[in-house]
Amino acid sequence: MIDTYESRVESRESRVGEGRGTPERSVSRAKRLQSEVSPDSLLTDLHREISLCRECELAECRNMVVPGEGAADAEIMFIGEAPGFHEDQQGRPFVGAAGQFLDNLLRSISLDRSKVYICNIIKCRPPGNRDPLPREVDACRRWLERQIELIAPRMIITLGRHSMTRYFPGASISKVHGTARNLDGRICFAMYHPAAALHQQSLRRTIEVDMLKIPGLLAQAADVRTEREPRPQQLSMF
Ligand code: URA
Repeated sequence: MIDTYESRVESRESRVGEGRGTPERSVSRAKRLQSEVSPDSLLTDLHREISLCRECELAECRNMVVPGEGAADAEIMFIGEAPGFHEDQQGRPFVGAAGQFLDNLLRSISLDRSKVYICNIIKCRPPGNRDPLPREVDACRRWLERQIELIAPRMIITLGRHSMTRYFPGASISKVHGTARNLDGRICFAMYHPAAALHQQSLRRTIEVDMLKIPGLLAQAADVRTEREPRPQQLSMF
């Protein structure tokens, strides 16, 4: 088999028994460690592949592709909208003013970028920071799916309405922000985009309060999983 990213994922999955697209983090970290190809190196390969993408016209005007960044085994994945000017210059997500606010929000729950994964619905900057077009979102869909498949986060947090639409179809951000739903065993949590606080000061506190719900949601999900796990059989004394 040729050593492409996909063949490496396939061989890793067949070794560790992880089904493609299985949302449950059913493969324990211990099993992940048994795999010859580390999640870090798979993620590096995937980022490299994304950075070569020319699937849509944004490839003509971008400066850099912004695949995403963070831990390959992150429990939490943040999905924003699209790279802006600074992200396009640096090839990293959320490095402008909205990103600084996101860093503060992470700090408020004792996290930082190295412990989560941050990416966007589309990986290249739309000219003039316009909204992503449906065909651009479609062209980028497979990259996001592969990021989710590889990282297998327990929680997906949508930042803003573009990523919210994918996980809360038909919802309005003003109603759904700060709420979670369970999608195939994964928690999806909707938040306003951090940039919203820069444009509308009154949303800052709302976003901060929503962020503080995240640790509790993650802990609840862990409790549910623990309850569902079969209790160990009591050892017979004889
Ligand atoms: N806004 C986004 O949605 N993503 C970024 O990476 C930066 C700003």
